[in-house]
Amino acid sequence: MSRAEKIAKMATTSAGQAKQDSVVSRKRKKARKNVLFEAHKHCVECSLPIPLGNESLICDDDDCRANQERKEKSRKRLSILLYAGVAIFIIPIVLQLIGALT
Ligand SMILES: [Zn+2]
Repeated sequence: MSRAEKIAKMATTSAGQAKQDSVVSRKRKKARKNVLFEAHKHCVECSLPIPLGNESLICDDDDCRANQERKEKSRKRLSILLYAGVAIFIIPIVLQLIGALT
């Protein structure tokens, strides 16, 4: 392949890419203008779009539900631990205060 051919090929490919890019950006602009998307939220597990009216944070998938339940449980355990830790820290102080007052 000669140098001129190479240059010509490069020019055509970049022109093609530019055209594609402009098509994509035009589509994006159009989407923004006409609001193609309905208001929706995403499943917190698989980030699949789910309707906004759906009260749960996850989609109907069983895996997502199981994962969500597991996370919920660990979150509960963590908050209990946190409260227990705070209590352990505070109870001696309170006892000391009571002892100082009496
Ligand atoms: Zn999901």
